[in-house]
Amino acid sequence: MVKIERRDTEKTRKAIQSLEKAKQKSGKYNTPEVFEALQETFHGKCYICEKKNVTSWEIEHLKPQGKDVSLKYDWHNLFLACAHCNHIKGSKYTPILDCTKIDVDDVISFRKLGYFGTEELLDFKRVDGVADSQEIALTCELLQRVYSGKTTREKFEAKVLRNDVMIELSKFKNYIREYLRLTGENRRDAFELICRELKSNSLFTAFKRWIVRDNPDWCRDFMDCWKKN
Ligand SMILES: [Zn+2]
Repeated sequence: MVKIERRDTEKTRKAIQSLEKAKQKSGKYNTPEVFEALQETFHGKCYICEKKNVTSWEIEHLKPQGKDVSLKYDWHNLFLACAHCNHIKGSKYTPILDCTKIDVDDVISFRKLGYFGTEELLDFKRVDGVADSQEIALTCELLQRVYSGKTTREKFEAKVLRNDVMIELSKFKNYIREYLRLTGENRRDAFELICRELKSNSLFTAFKRWIVRDNPDWCRDFMDCWKKN
């Protein structure tokens, strides 16, 4: 989970208009315009697990709508989530951090623990020195459940998800190894590629940023590069 900017674009303006119309008629909030704008805003990835290639997309209410009509149709309360994450979050994990307002990976660490051949464990912790809050604690709990699962079905889905994370992170580490070996123009190209991998529209970005943070010796060139321009 990383910060995603809600930009003012043609698609988001159309989505907001369609939500206003739906609200007046007490209609459905999941209009085609809203889906399109959410896909654009969230770079086609689930805001919780940061996976892109999913078959079932859902519109998630950050604050559960309950009987509050304004929350149901509020563009700023609508998030793009995969079915796995949406089902787990439901209304149980409330309140969590709003990733359109907060740099989540500045306050929560995202780490893969364990070694090759052992059952991998994904670990989420409040960053040292950051004040404790209910939002941070619940976001960590939600992430833990999303990547480990609790019910049989969730566990199965989480295993598939963890496998995707492993593949992506191992590819990312190879890019860095390659970068360190290269010189001249090739090295500059590799640098650009790695910087793109650390942007908010990439897959599992929070984990990649924490690989950089945890390895200042061989990742120093990339430290905080996602915060520049
Ligand atoms: Zn997800």
